[in-house]
Formats: sequence, C-alpha cells, structure tokens
Amino acid sequence: MPVLVMKFGGTSVATLDRIQRVAKRVGVEVAKGYDVIVIVSAMSGKTNELVGWVKETSPMFDAREYDAVVSSGEAVTAGLMALTLQQMDVPARSWQGWQVPLKTDSAHSAARIDEIPTDNINEKFGEGMRVAVVAGFQGVSPEGRITTLGRGGSDTTAVAFAAAFDAERCDIYTDVDGVYTTDPRISPKAKKIDKIAYEEMLELASLGAKVLQTRSVELAMRYKVKLRVLSSFEENTDTSGTLVCDEEEIMESNVVSGVAYSRDEAKMTLVSVADRPGIAAAIFGPLSEAGVNVDMIIQNIAEDGRTDMTFSCPIDDVARARVALDGAKDAGDINFHELVADEDVAKVSVVGIGMRSHAGVAAKMFGALHDHGVNIKVIATSEIKISVLIERKYMELAVQALHDAFELEK
Ligand code: ASP
Ligand code: MG
Repeated sequence: MPVLVMKFGGTSVATLDRIQRVAKRVGVEVAKGYDVIVIVSAMSGKTNELVGWVKETSPMFDAREYDAVVSSGEAVTAGLMALTLQQMDVPARSWQGWQVPLKTDSAHSAARIDEIPTDNINEKFGEGMRVAVVAGFQGVSPEGRITTLGRGGSDTTAVAFAAAFDAERCDIYTDVDGVYTTDPRISPKAKKIDKIAYEEMLELASLGAKVLQTRSVELAMRYKVKLRVLSSFEENTDTSGTLVCDEEEIMESNVVSGVAYSRDEAKMTLVSVADRPGIAAAIFGPLSEAGVNVDMIIQNIAEDGRTDMTFSCPIDDVARARVALDGAKDAGDINFHELVADEDVAKVSVVGIGMRSHAGVAAKMFGALHDHGVNIKVIATSEIKISVLIERKYMELAVQALHDAFELEK
C-alpha cells in the first residue's frame, strides 16, 4: 500500500482533544488506503519546560542526559496518539526513535540522521498495522544513547521517514495554513503561497521563516520528497496548504516569492587589517573553530596595504567572536586596529527562483528601501536571494516596503 507521512507539530497535539481531532484526520487517510507513518512533536511548551528543568538542575549539563530528558515529550505524544487511534479501531502502535531504530551520529542535542532501516515498521504494516506513530526529534547514537535532532527536529524526522519509506507525500500539519510571502504579523498583506520550490523554501527557512526546520527542507530537496505544509485547525482538501516541490512542477515561477527577515543580527568590523594572502583565513579560521555562524562578509578596498573586514553573525555569537579574534590578535596571527560591533542591525532578504533570469531585482529592492529612507549597511547576494543589513528599527518598515514593491499581495 502507498505510504503517507503525516507530521503533527506541538500545537496540533497540545491537548487530548486536539490529539483526538488529528487522529481523525489520520483515520481519513487510512480509509483512503494509505499506510500512514505519523510523526509527532511534544505537546506545545513541553520541550521548553524540559529544557528549563535540565538547565535548572545542571547549568553545565551532560548533553546525553539533556537528550534523555528532552526526548521524553515526544514519547508521551506518540503513545497517546497510538492509544487514540486504537480507540477509533485503527490498528496502530507507537515507536520510540531507538525502537525503529532511527540511527544518528553522537552529536547530542544536534544529532544528524545516519540511517532509518525500514524492516521493523514494514513487517508490522505487513501484519495489518495501519499506522506507525513515531516519536519525532529523537534517535539513537552508535553508543546506544538517546539523541535529539535540534529544536524543531520533528520536521526533519518526518522528511527522513518519507524518504526512507518512499512515501507519496509528507504532510506537515502546523498552526498556520501554509507558507506565506512574508510574516503576516508584519505585513497584513502577506499571502499564502500555493507552491514553492525547494531552493526558495530553503532560503526562506534559513533566512528566518520559522515554519520548517531548515534541515528538513535540505533533506526534502536531496531526496525529492514532496512536502506539504498545512493547518491542523482547518478543513483541508487535497490542494490546501503550501506544496514544497521541484522547480519543474511550478508553471510560472515568481521573480520574488517572499520576503524574509531575521531580527537578531550583528555586524562586526575589524578595522585596519593587513591586506595580504592568508589574512582572511587567519580571521575566519578562529571564528569557525569558535562556532561563530558567519553569514555575510565584505572586504573593503585596501589603502596603503591595509583594509577593513566586515562580517555579520547572530547577535548571540558576538561575545564568542570577540574572544576568538582577540585571541588570534594576541597570538600574532592577525593585527587589527579595532574590533567594532554593531548590535543594532536586522537582516531583510528577498527570495525568488525567477531572479536567475530577471535583471533589476536588486535595483528595485534598493530603490524601495531608499524611498522609505532606509539606509543599507551590508549587501549580500546569491543566485536566488538578495539580503541587506539595516538598522533594526526599520526592519518592519523594510519588510512592508519590499512586499509592496514586488507586489507580493497579488
Ligand atoms: N519538540 C521539539 C521542539 O520543540 C521538536 C519539534 O517539535 O520539532 O523543538
Ligand atoms: Mg516546528
């Protein structure tokens, strides 16, 4: 029988009533003839509570025990979902990550999936089980310890199962009815997108659109898993929600599909570093070792053999970046005059596959920002996106202005 993966996020399983409601949806798909793999998150708020308990108990916690604790939220919802389905006479059972087993590496709290053997679950499908309810977010390391996949990781669990079981589709049920052209809380004109290409979704997710964990989109793209994002609070038809799919399946791609933002960015400038081979490596090597997530980089034109180097990173990484660079300076690897951090910036980006074949997107974007008096501090581009760093207080204004300029409400 064809396999369908249905993933329910924390708000969709937040209470017993809601579990009952989504179980009915699962029942509908079973009645259509699918064998269903249900992936569940923890009840909303649960994982935060568990993380809080761990930190309160042990500030410098053992990551293996962190995973043992925080994975428990999904264990509860998986069992409850299986029970609910059984009450509806749907043959179902629950699976913890280690029972499948969903094999990961040993990077506790941010583990990556190595393999999902399908035999155990397929054997049960063969015996008449119709729904395998799998606890999202968790797996097992080569050492036999419980691991978790990082916050939001149930999305990645869902896509990985869809790939492993060659599912017809992976439906991600959440509290919004799809992916929007921008955050509706910022621009009321934001519109739901019917179809979006993997590449665009990947950019939007990594640029701050929080509907899907970025890694889940990466996986979907690699294994060509058809992903659908839809609401568990609305009546859905076969075409509701947003389909994340291959570019070829989208008839007419938009030049710009969405505007993304990320509020908590910082811009750091090394004033006056030597302009010679090896200097960039001497700067970004220590930053990478310190785990600083560097995003944009600009090097200015050199004068008298010296130049300024600017990069952006999340605001949370500023302290670590400072320690790493001061250390490199003390070690004599780089010699800079001053390290200036601007912690008052936000990143706003426009994303669209159509940019590949359309000129003028940058000009239009910069024009719109200019019309609203927004100064651009740093610009970065890829084939399908343009990002700017601006002063944080203009972030909402910039998002709205760009949404208008590219007529995304149409
Ligand atoms: N419960 C986990 C979290 O809150 C995983 C997930 O829901 O995707 O991050
Ligand atoms: Mg989520």
